[in-house]
Amino acid sequence: MSQNQKINKTEACPDCSRPLSQCICGKVASFPTKTRVLILQHPQEKLKLWNSARLANLILPNSILRVGLSWPNLKKASGIETAEPSKWAALYLKGNHKLEKPFQLFNRKEEPLEDASFLQGIIILDGSWKQAHSTWWRNPWLLRVNRIALNVNQASKRNQAKEAGLATIESIAHTLPYLNEPTSVSESLLQQYQDFIVTPNRTGRKPKPFSYSV
Ligand SMILES: [Zn+2]
Repeated sequence: MSQNQKINKTEACPDCSRPLSQCICGKVASFPTKTRVLILQHPQEKLKLWNSARLANLILPNSILRVGLSWPNLKKASGIETAEPSKWAALYLKGNHKLEKPFQLFNRKEEPLEDASFLQGIIILDGSWKQAHSTWWRNPWLLRVNRIALNVNQASKRNQAKEAGLATIESIAHTLPYLNEPTSVSESLLQQYQDFIVTPNRTGRKPKPFSYSV
């Protein structure tokens, strides 16, 4: 089953966007976080069978899921009037970064920062690498926020190669512990991803890698 497989609109739950046979409405356990999580979803991702953004959004009441291509600034994208770019960080697009540590925060000048406790929110671009790349360049305000680079040794549950990146929900799960969120939140994000998306869709055949990488 291709990871790019789309759900037919007539067969998708209007609320959770999952296939009606896999509707997760009312089944998700949610976990409050101090950290705001802003997910910018490419419109073509919304009905992808393997998309994890809506699940992450339902698990994290302090998250915001926005579907679109561009927004004029962080305040408009997040809907938070007090949002300051200097207190937010975007998860890196996959680059040539040779990262030794599992987590590294950089400021907008690419200088590494040791203390991430000042961060109020994180931004994740949800889509294929190509889509995320285009979202990045359509939203120049993203250059004004800090950046987080992840180097996760644990292979994605989607069976993709490590280099191919993580599902959105996995990226969030691997980031939150470094922002002083309880590990139970991350464990539940990964477990619910397994239960609600991976297990129902796994057919034994290795899905083709796709997705936004960090
Ligand atoms: Zn539903």
